[in-house]
This record gives sequence, structure tokens and C-alpha cells, in this order.
Amino acid sequence: MSFNDGIQIPGRLPLLLTHEGVLLPGSTMRLSVDTPRNMQLVKSRLLKGTSLKSTIIGVIPNTRDPEHDTEDLPTLHGIGTAGLAVQVVGSNWPKPHYTLLITGLCRFRVSSLLKEHPFPLAEVEQLDQYTSSEGGELGELSHKFYQAALQLVGMLDMSVPVVAKLRRLLDSLPRETLPDVIASMIRTSNKEKLQVLDAVSLEERFKRTLPILTRQIEGLKLLQKTRKPRPDDSKMVLSVRKGAVLPGRQFSLEDEAEDEDGDDTAALERKVHGANMPEAALKICLKDLKRLKKMPQSMPEYALTRNYLDLMVELPWSKSTKDRLDIRAARILLDNDHYAMEKLKRRVLEYLAVRQLQTSLKGPILCFVGPPGVGKTSVGRSIARTLGREFHRIALGGVCDQSDIRGHRRTYIGSMPGRIINGLKTVGVNNPVFLLDEVDKLGKSLQGDPAAALLEVLFIATANSTATIPPALLDRMEVLQVPGYTQEEKVEIAHRHLIPHQLEQHGLTPQHLQIPQDTTQEVITSYTREAGVRSLERKIGAICRAVAVKVAEGQKVTKPEGATPEDPAQKQGDMSAPPEMPIVVDHIALKDILGPPVFEMEVSQRLTLPGVALGLAWTPLGGEIMFVEASRMEGEGQLTLTGQLGDVMKESAHLAISWLRANAKNYQLTNLMGGSDPLEGTDIHLHFPAGAVTKDGPSAGVTIVTCLASLFSGRLVRSDVAMTGEITLRGLVLPVGGIKDKVLAAHRAGVKCVILPKRSEKDLEEIPANIRAEIDFVTVGHLDEVLNAAFDGGFPKIAKMLTHPQLSSKL
Ligand code: ADP
Repeated sequence: MSFNDGIQIPGRLPLLLTHEGVLLPGSTMRLSVDTPRNMQLVKSRLLKGTSLKSTIIGVIPNTRDPEHDTEDLPTLHGIGTAGLAVQVVGSNWPKPHYTLLITGLCRFRVSSLLKEHPFPLAEVEQLDQYTSSEGGELGELSHKFYQAALQLVGMLDMSVPVVAKLRRLLDSLPRETLPDVIASMIRTSNKEKLQVLDAVSLEERFKRTLPILTRQIEGLKLLQKTRKPRPDDSKMVLSVRKGAVLPGRQFSLEDEAEDEDGDDTAALERKVHGANMPEAALKICLKDLKRLKKMPQSMPEYALTRNYLDLMVELPWSKSTKDRLDIRAARILLDNDHYAMEKLKRRVLEYLAVRQLQTSLKGPILCFVGPPGVGKTSVGRSIARTLGREFHRIALGGVCDQSDIRGHRRTYIGSMPGRIINGLKTVGVNNPVFLLDEVDKLGKSLQGDPAAALLEVLFIATANSTATIPPALLDRMEVLQVPGYTQEEKVEIAHRHLIPHQLEQHGLTPQHLQIPQDTTQEVITSYTREAGVRSLERKIGAICRAVAVKVAEGQKVTKPEGATPEDPAQKQGDMSAPPEMPIVVDHIALKDILGPPVFEMEVSQRLTLPGVALGLAWTPLGGEIMFVEASRMEGEGQLTLTGQLGDVMKESAHLAISWLRANAKNYQLTNLMGGSDPLEGTDIHLHFPAGAVTKDGPSAGVTIVTCLASLFSGRLVRSDVAMTGEITLRGLVLPVGGIKDKVLAAHRAGVKCVILPKRSEKDLEEIPANIRAEIDFVTVGHLDEVLNAAFDGGFPKIAKMLTHPQLSSKL
């Protein structure tokens, strides 16, 4: 009786094609599954099925060369082994795959293929259903085989578990199953195993396996002769173990030679020695290798250790790209890639120059801080290019687990190397430029110094704001501010870089599409509101897409009246372009493509009532204009603040009210009834739109004072003035940060005059001359000056204060 007796395999089996060897009935094998076909099979059959039958699948050796395996199904080998999936383990590393532990039950023949997708399903005929017949030639053969097997086991070391198990199996298993079991346990090539699989009749199977067994015995004899046998001769053990299929082994009929020294662990050992790793790493690897050899493959730790060692040998320990640093070339490259950003480019060049002179420099990590879309990442990429190094970006946004970056402890099941190590593996060299993108978005504090671990690697980090960068990390970085761009800079960037890039991306040329400067300007003011150029690039992309459709259809978006291509040479166009090309995107076409303007100039419209003033705020996304609105009503002197304000901003509001109350007489400020205490019998409500955005910081102080002064005096604030500055109780105006971004925002909004603290005047140097020329800057040291500048005709005081102002507040 066969040991599969009683098992009736289903008449239809899903087929798993494998390159990893031949599964024989009675043996257990670990298979790695990663092709889409096989993954699908595992997912929809093994993981979904509930019955025992659904865990039985057909395993067929894939005889096609794995290098040339394609999507379509190869010719199926006619015979396979029905196997019971005992264990399915999924993993994502190094790529998504499943590892199956499969026990072979019996042979089957493929009768007909029912379907190929998503995985092959076939009608099968169960084989190996013999009735016991001990007599005749077969009985003789099986007896001979049994004796030979006994002889082999006798030559091996019984203290080794596999050998002991084999010995037990010899007596407990029915004789007809022995060929399969022995063939899968001793050293055989895949080609031989395939022949055993194909031997459907028992007689033939015995005949095929007997020579293999005899060869093994002869081999062992030879070995024992040439070597003094030692009781723990591990070689002898190995020769048996090698026969068992190790995961990851490639199956090919041709490479018998590879099979000869194909011992997986030995190959791994060779790789470990060849990986050129430093002493310390080598020591650890060898130690693990030693443990691996002693471990049974079914142990979970086997796979862990194996994965770890595989990773270790794959890491680029000594492979590096050669730095070619030519500062002059670097400057040209940086200039070519990026318009404007002079300060940043200068600092980057300095940094590179110092590296050139002092190669051992363990310099600080450069950290580019600025709003999104200002080119931080792209400068990082250029640095890698100037150095001739590989570039790898590691996005840290939202990462809250250190081990995501550093790697897990290896002992955890499912542990993975961290992003840095993975990055090294991906780029394949040990000195890439790593861009740690968005370090300010790290969920938790990241401790440790990555630079200390990997001196060769050049790290560059980017962030929107330094406020949320873990202090330990910030300490090790040199922060370079990358402010937003002015309108003019954006137009230049668009025409020099973004438009050509987008045209190329959409398969267009200037013969197809032209975007005049006016249109770019309009896109910037009416369709984007950002410090960087990312939305701008997206909008240009949208224009390109629309035009690409028209080009494909061979017609125009609109007939641009009077719009002629600027370059007469292009008018003649290239002959391949349709005759009405190029399409010139003018104002009308723009509206057609992008829809009605998203942002309207609203400043002057909203400053038509007393009690509204325009402030300037800094956010991690760049500068912004910010309205402050106030209203008053009968009440008991309450102040209501809305618009999600932080504590500092609330305090500014209290300060502003106190100062105004103290100075109410001088400025003739009144309450609702005309009295001289603005709060008497009056409630005040201050609101900071947009209500959904949290706001904080002291720099709105002057704006609040102006807004309230307007409310209490009934006078309108000048509609073209914006302001920023911190205030004190005595009415002094203190300096604030982010001046460049704020001024740029004011300019974007069409503001003509900016009031800013005297001590922030030095920051104006960073602002391009053309903007400085367009805006009138009023630098102030005291609130008197703020009010004078903010109202048409000034805000005169009645008399100098003689006594110390009343400082107490009701609030
Ligand atoms: P960040 O990393 O600062 O968010 P990116 O580097 O992703 O921004 O830049 C967004 C896009 O804008 C990129 O396509 C980049 O090439 C382009 N860009 C930004 N600044 C400039 C510049 N000064 N010159 C040319 N292109 C720029």
C-alpha cells in the first residue's frame, strides 16, 4: 500500500510552476513564490480556501529558463506532484513573495488545461495508486533498493537527525515510496529528479533511482578511503543534506555542473568572503553562517539568518563611485539647473569646495529649509550630479518609528532593514547622496547620528520649517533657508525650466505650444498661490495636456487673435507639425483650459470698512497676507477672539487693546457711546480668517492695533498697506522674522506699502531690487508711526502724554 493511500486528490488542480526544483511524493520542500501567476494562486486558493482540498495544489517543474520566463504560460511538463501546502508565509522583503512549505502526496498527469488566467487550472489524473505486489521482478528490485538504502544509512553518522530520520523511514515506509523519498534526500541533480518524477511505473522508478543510490554509496566509500574517517565528519552529513532542496535554488536542466558544488550554504559562504566587508562585519557573518549550517531549515530563524546574510553580502561594502569634483563645472551645472536661489547655490559650492580640499571632512548635514516647491529636492539631485554620485531620496514624512529608518532588530519575525540600508542596497554603491526629505515631518524624535554610522554617505536633508525638527537632529545640521520666489523669478523659472521640461514630458515641442510671458504671469497670479513653483508646474502640465489632445486631434484650442509666435523662425514651423501650429495659449485659451481664475485680488475689496487691516504672516509654506477683522457691539467689555489662535497671538490681542485704551484719549478713540474708554459698554470681536488654519506668533501685533484703531476711530485703513511687527505694552515695535517671504506675499497680493519694524530693515537686502522698487517700505520703531503710515493723512495725536498711561486692563 502506498503511504498516500486513502488520499484522493481533486480532479481539478491549480498548478504552481516552479523553478526551484522537483517536488517528489513523500518529501517536503520549501518553495518561494513571486511570479504574478503563482502569487495569485496562493492568494486566491491557499489563503482563501477553507477545506483541506483547497490546500492541495499541483506542483509542476518549470523547465523554461528562468531568465527568459515571460508572462505567457510555458509548455507544461506533463507530470507533476500534487502537494499539500502545510505552511504559507508572506514577506515583503526583498520583494513581495510567499514561502510555501509543501509536502508531496502523489504524482498526477495533466489531462487538459482548463484555464490559464489568473493561474493555470487543469483537469488531472491521479497516479501512484498502486496495489501492493511484492512478487516478481518488482519485488526483487524493491528489495535490492532497500538493501542499498540500508547500506548508505549505515555509512552515515547516526547522531545527525536527518540520518536518524532516514533510518526510521526505511523501515516504516512502504517500499514503493522509497525511491521518491531517497531521491529527494540524497544528492541528485534536478535533471535526475525530473527523470524520477517522470518514471510513472514503479519498476522504472526503482530502475532509475537505484543507480543514483549506488553512485552515492560509491562516492562515500571513496571519501572514506581518501580521508581518515572522523566520527563527526560533517562532510558526510552534508552530502545527504545537500540533497534536500534549499529555498532560493534555481532550477535548470542544463547546469549539472553548478549542482555539483551547488551547496547553498557553501555558495553563501563564498559570497560572504567575496563581499569585501570590513573585519567586524565579516566576523559576525561567519558566526551566523556557522549557526545557519547547524539549523534545520524549517526553523523560522533559518529564514531570518539567511535573509540577513543575503543582505550583508549584497551591500556595497567597497563599491563606490569616484568623486569628480570640479567646482567650476559644479557652478555651471547648478546655474543651469536652477534659476535664482543665489545664496543657497553659493553655500552649496562652498560646501563642495571644502570637501574637495579636506576629503576626510565629516561635515555637518546640510538641511534646506523652505516652503514646498522651491527646489530643495532638485538642488540635492544636482549636488549628486556635480559630484558624480548616485542619488537616493528617503521620504521621512510621517515616519514615526525609528526602526523604519534604522532597521528592525533582526530577531523579530518580519524584521526589515531600514530605509538607509535599503537605499544603499538599491543604489549599489557605498557613497551615494542621500536626501532625507521632510525631516520636519518625522513623527517622533529620531535619535542618533546617521552620519556617524556611514561616513562615506553624503546626507542632505530638507524641511519646511525648523520648528518641528527633533532638536538632537537639528543640532547636527547646517540650516540653509530657501525662501519663496518672487513673481518675476517664477516667470523666469517657468520659461527656463518648467515649460521646456513639461513640453518634453508631454511629447510636445515649441512648434506645438507657446506660452507667452503674460500667460505665465496670469497663471501665477490667478491660478496659484504658493511660495514655490510646484502648482505652477502642475498648471503648466495641465496646459500641455490640453494642447497635446488638440495636437493629437489636429486642431487648435482657440484662434489667438493677433497672437503671433514670438520667434519668426518658428512661424515657418517644422513640416511635421499641423499647419495651425504652434498653439499660443493666450488669456482666453487659458480660461478655457484651466477654468475661471481660482484666486482673485481681493485686498482692496475687503478693506472697505473700518475695523479691517492687512497683516503679513509667515507659515512653513511661505509668506501669506492675513486679514484681521474687528467689530464691536454693546456689552460689558468682553473680548472675543476667533480663528484658531495660539496663546502668543491671543496675548498680542490683549496687548493691543491695553495699549489702545491707554492711549484712547490721545488718539480720540471712542466706544459705541462716544466715551473715551473704547471698552466701556462695548464688546469686541476680533477674527482672523481663514478660520480653519491655526495661527500663532507675535508678529500680528501691529496689525491688531491698526485694525482696532480703525474700529474705534471709524476711519478706514489704507487699502494698499500691509504690516508686520511685534508690539510691547509701551507701544514699541519689535523685529520679527520671515521678512522676505512676507514681502513676497504682499507683492503677490498687489500691496504697495509694507510697514515693518525698524530692526528688521536689514532683512530687506534679500529682496530683489525690482520688488523693493515697487513697494514702499515704512520702517517703524513705535506704534505712533504705524498708525501714521496705515491711515491716509496719518493718525495724529492730540497731545503728548504727560502722565504714565494707565496700564491696567479689564481683560
Ligand atoms: P521641494 O523639494 O523644495 O519641495 P522640488 O525640488 O521638488 O521642491 O521642486 C519642484 C519643482 O520645481 C521641480 O521640478 C524643480 O525642478 C522646480 N524648481 C524649483 N525651483 C527651481 C529653480 N530655482 N529653478 C528651476 N527649477 C526649479
